[in-house]
Amino acid sequence: MAEQNFDVLVIGAGPGGYVCAIRAAQLGMKTACVEKLPTLGGTCLNVGCIPSKALLQSSEMFHLAQHGLARHGVVVALPALDLAAMHGHKTQVVKANTAGVEFLFKKHKIAWLKGAARIIGPGRVTVTGANGAAETVSAKHIVIATGSESAPLANVAVDEKHILTSTGGLALAKVPKTMAVIGAGYIGLELGTVWRRLGAQVTVIEYLDRILPGMDAEMASEMHKLLGKQGMRFKLGTKVTSAATGGGNGVTLKLAPVAGGAEESFAADVVLVAVGRRAHTEGLGLDEAGVALDDRGRVKTDAHFATNVAGIHAIGDVIAGPMLAHKAEDEGMALAELLAGQKPHVNYGAIPGVVYTWPEAATVGKSEEELKAAGIAYKVGKFPFTANGRARAMAMTDGFVKILADAKTDRVLGCHIIGPEAGNLIHEMVLAIEFGASAEDIARTCHAHPTLNEAVREAALAVDKRPIHI
Ligand code: FAD
Repeated sequence: MAEQNFDVLVIGAGPGGYVCAIRAAQLGMKTACVEKLPTLGGTCLNVGCIPSKALLQSSEMFHLAQHGLARHGVVVALPALDLAAMHGHKTQVVKANTAGVEFLFKKHKIAWLKGAARIIGPGRVTVTGANGAAETVSAKHIVIATGSESAPLANVAVDEKHILTSTGGLALAKVPKTMAVIGAGYIGLELGTVWRRLGAQVTVIEYLDRILPGMDAEMASEMHKLLGKQGMRFKLGTKVTSAATGGGNGVTLKLAPVAGGAEESFAADVVLVAVGRRAHTEGLGLDEAGVALDDRGRVKTDAHFATNVAGIHAIGDVIAGPMLAHKAEDEGMALAELLAGQKPHVNYGAIPGVVYTWPEAATVGKSEEELKAAGIAYKVGKFPFTANGRARAMAMTDGFVKILADAKTDRVLGCHIIGPEAGNLIHEMVLAIEFGASAEDIARTCHAHPTLNEAVREAALAVDKRPIHI
């Protein structure tokens, strides 16, 4: 059979790869996408964003039925948990999303090449299917969009039974009595929250002396306090030195204070390892192809997603930058447009980050710590949800909106929201940063009453020390 030839061949059908493939096809390029999993959508749709949000939503409803309805005058009997049905809902949601991408591939006439891709030379890739059959295809442009995988932790061997990655943490068949989460980043807190709400006693162990590393410290400290009130326990400034399974059914961790001191043992039924993710480049033939990696094993690219090898590009989690689905999507769209001769741009200063616990935490732009480190003078406007009418009506008044604006120009530099629907509220501020708005622009914009968004406007007014409702 003659070798198939494409304009664009994308390796990996996660949010970076599938979006790149769709945009390339929209722009008239003959496009193929290679995926080694049996379904499309990558980590995000199969074992990441989507299933985790399904479980967060379901567990939150369980928690609300237990603790949140009575104050609204809705009296129900104590709810029972049907974990199998909860997983069933999650599976349906994942299926609908992955099937949706399959439909879009058909609609845009994108060839889905099923199997694992290996670059064997300039413009040439071998695709090996699950049955071992291999096909070689060629393409003018190759796009590496192979994403990331859970990072391992020394002396803590994952078995996905007692010691889990996030993938195992999304699939537990019963609620553990005790769970240790190693790592207080967003994945650890989100999955810890799910199992806490369903009844597990959850302890988060973190190397640093704070949670949510990299996010605005005041917001992280508020989250620490609020999750603590929900019963989550924390051991900060603590490193896990080893894990042993066997004996009973659980896991015994050895913990040591980072600052030095005596080791202690810590037992838990299950341990979730959530210490970050690393670029997935294994088996791609990058060495032989001469594609350079950076010091953290990510594919090295220039501002146009080009690697050091002509015709090979890379996007998403496999390159530098925040490991987030929407960052991967934006890069996918931008790269397809570049390949079509357009001049797109990804604004890395305006990429939101959301932690989908309850309350949610959402952030865009610079944190106070980053502004201080850069020596940039800034003003702060803060508004608590306790003073927002809609939040009171919802009985969800935890948290605040904080806007950081340039001291001289008033331009919005960052926004950090912890509170109800923070992940939705942040987009007003993402747009503000994208458009170079000032805090005054937001303060002068009419916001509907009564909405949570009014807290954003009040924070903008507070930048100029004139909030109305506090
Ligand atoms: P991926 O989604 O990882 O896709 C890469 C694809 O490439 C995979 O399908 C893989 O099978 C395939 N592949 C790899 N090598 C080959 C090969 N040689 N041949 C063929 N195919 C190959 N991000 C958010 O923005 N919001 C969230 O709420 C969020 N929640 C998350 C929750 C969890 C539990 C996890 C684990 C991640 C979460 N993320 C979230 C991160 C998000 O999933 C990633 O940032 C995103 O999936 C990266 O997209 P990508 O296209 O770069 O790679």
